[in-house]
Amino acid sequence: MTDSTPPRVLTVAGSDSGGGAGIQADLKTMLALGVHGMSVIAAVTAQNSLGVQGYWELPPEAVRAQLDSVLGDIGAQAVKTGMLASSALVETVAEVLAGLAGLDVPVVVDPVGVSKHGDALLAPEAVETMKQRLLPAATVVTPNLWEVSQLTGVKVEDEGDLRRAADAVLEFGPTWVLVKGGHLPGAPVDLLTDGTREFRFTAERHDNRHTHGTGCTLASAIASHLALGEDVPSAVEKAKAYVTGAIAHGFPLGAGIGPVDHAW
Ligand code: PLP
Repeated sequence: MTDSTPPRVLTVAGSDSGGGAGIQADLKTMLALGVHGMSVIAAVTAQNSLGVQGYWELPPEAVRAQLDSVLGDIGAQAVKTGMLASSALVETVAEVLAGLAGLDVPVVVDPVGVSKHGDALLAPEAVETMKQRLLPAATVVTPNLWEVSQLTGVKVEDEGDLRRAADAVLEFGPTWVLVKGGHLPGAPVDLLTDGTREFRFTAERHDNRHTHGTGCTLASAIASHLALGEDVPSAVEKAKAYVTGAIAHGFPLGAGIGPVDHAW
């Protein structure tokens, strides 16, 4: 037992009943990285290794009440948002996060659109709300290539397009954008920029198809390292190292795609 309080990190996201992505991945990541994880559930998915069989979003007042409970008493040193499902929920979360402005609480926005299996996790009309309301509140936004094209219309075909895509996302007002280029051919490369500074992170490609939960894990690892006091480039670098290890240790589960290993 210890009487020192670890940094607190809040995830606002969807539940994955299979335990590999979403809220469950976020809390496991936070445990592994030594912060206290808290969870505001925005939606519940019925999900396994084969995909998302259905999802149900919570009423905005239920999400707001959870946020008020946690932030009104415990507080957070960082917040991560993931699957928010609907325009009304994106708006609710954006309103509450706007109330944190000036308190120096970093916000990592994973602009979740679809799962690896191709299941939609965000209503089409919510994309506009995300651009106008949530992205301006983000310290870091972490789109993959599909999400970049959904947000900006920019199609990234090779590494040379990454900066143009990142600059298009910065137009919506986040401080930093991390464009995840893992689906490009060749060695995976992610580009981080605030419009002035630019960092490219490369990693070895692991020949492992059990990668469910990668995006959620990366965003919550970034939030955890920010809460532990790192600046954005070093939080991203450390989070990438954690996710790379988790992917290398991903394991089979069910008949489909297994999860990354948070406890590697
Ligand atoms: N389920 C939930 C609740 C999620 O938030 C996400 C992604 O953010 C997924 C599923 C998809 O995970 P993956 O694309 O890694 O399979």
